[in-house]
Amino acid sequence: MDCIFCKIAEGKSPANFVLNDGDVFAVRDAHPMAPIHILIIPQKHIASLTDLDGTDDRGLVGKMVSTAVEVAKKVSLSDRGFRLVWNCREEGGQTVDHIHLHLLGGRQMKWPPG
Ligand code: AMP
Ligand code: ZN
Repeated sequence: MDCIFCKIAEGKSPANFVLNDGDVFAVRDAHPMAPIHILIIPQKHIASLTDLDGTDDRGLVGKMVSTAVEVAKKVSLSDRGFRLVWNCREEGGQTVDHIHLHLLGGRQMKWPPG
């Protein structure tokens, strides 16, 4: 399967790792949209949020959120604040079909996000 995040997970494509606990890893986004832009990615290939197994993957999604918060603390965003974003499928703006949670911070975020 030609999936860039699987390749990063397998060490076959370079990435700037912030954290890796085996189930979930965090890498700097290659095209940052904020001064800090980190992706929280599960090792397991799941194409989109709508492909999650409601029972088996529940813990994994919880772990992705708690990992994002851990990373936010690690990069000193916990006091300033940050934004977590999930893009899902075409109209949700998803471009890589392997689920990932965006951690964005280091500037004032706007609402609505556009
Ligand atoms: P999305 O548009 O929500 O699917 O997010 C995909 C993100 O992955 C984008 O922000 C891309 O900049 C980022 N991205 C794509 N390829 C890589 C890569 N090889 N290393 C790091 N980030 C990447
Ligand atoms: Zn994948």
